[in-house]
Amino acid sequence: MNKDELLKRALQFDFLSIEEGCFLFAHAATSELMYVGNELRKKQKPDNKVTWIIDRNVNTTNVCIANCKFCNFYRIPGHAEAYITTIEQYKEKIEETFRYGGNQLLLQGGHHPDLGLSYYTQLFRELKSLYPNLKLHSLGPPEVAHIAKLEKMTHTQVLTALKEAGLDSLPGPGAEILNDRVRRMISKGKCGGREWLDVMRAAHQLHLTTSATMMLGHIETIYERFEHLVWLREVQSEKPKDAQGFIAFIPWPFQDENTILRKVKGIRNSVTGDEYIRMIALSRIMLPNIKNIQASWLTVGKAVAQVCLHAGANDFGSIMIEENVVSAAGAPHRFTSDGIQDAIREAGFEPQLRDQQYTHLPLPAHLEQQLIAY
Ligand code: SF4
Repeated sequence: MNKDELLKRALQFDFLSIEEGCFLFAHAATSELMYVGNELRKKQKPDNKVTWIIDRNVNTTNVCIANCKFCNFYRIPGHAEAYITTIEQYKEKIEETFRYGGNQLLLQGGHHPDLGLSYYTQLFRELKSLYPNLKLHSLGPPEVAHIAKLEKMTHTQVLTALKEAGLDSLPGPGAEILNDRVRRMISKGKCGGREWLDVMRAAHQLHLTTSATMMLGHIETIYERFEHLVWLREVQSEKPKDAQGFIAFIPWPFQDENTILRKVKGIRNSVTGDEYIRMIALSRIMLPNIKNIQASWLTVGKAVAQVCLHAGANDFGSIMIEENVVSAAGAPHRFTSDGIQDAIREAGFEPQLRDQQYTHLPLPAHLEQQLIAY
């Protein structure tokens, strides 16, 4: 393989193979990958804007029977700290989100053994009837797969019912690394990689916009990272022409603090700032059919995320008024609305507020800044 030839092909939006991605990871300099990633971003997103969103990650329940080895968030059924969020608590969180200029909940939770489809459809209907303008970017493939198993239904049936009840878009948590060798070791209680992709295929057929993710830097091989990217690209190629499919890809490094993976197996996050920037550039290179690449400031911090904006990333994601899952494993970084916009400007770009469909929005006239206290 020839590095320069591969970089030239990448600049033409060629679909590089798993092996070719691995070759670039091993042999291309960070500056070369950044150059190509940035050129591709400029072609796909020529306006020098970096998008961001105001929303809130709220958890339906922390009860989970999946036992993922990297997760400090969940509690087993019957645990003293187990909870299911009440309508009163949702109301408080939603009204606060509106005051901060947001109108979306990223609703996620554990695999609760007793919460089936009707629990979620009733919840979505109630939230939408209380707040008709609220957007629900909610659940994810592992939860959809869990509900489908509980109810003995297909993914399409579950997603159709959720969509009718008010689901606006489907986030992409639980992808981790899609290869089942990895999943058997770190998250064998949740859906396998094939099922994760199948849920997304079904969502795309229903014209539900989704996003894709990757959690890297634990026990995966470099080959498995690129295989993950190629599998996402293949599913994106199958979406109906008039559907968005995966509207964004968001990679982030494994957060290891107090996790079983670290305490029992001694596995720590192995991703340096330089490697994360390289993976952002290679994500842009490997995923020509996914338009938005998001830098995870929550996990890598402001400075590394800013460099990512020069390596192919065009989106800074959410200010996350609340986030409890990744933060429980050590992700320490926080932004207000002013802070995220200043960080984007400092990096040389124009901040642009967006919604979950990546439609540009005007800034609300009076934007109350969130209190960073969690
Ligand atoms: S990551 Fe999700 S599925 Fe896994 S244990 Fe935590 S809450 Fe459960």
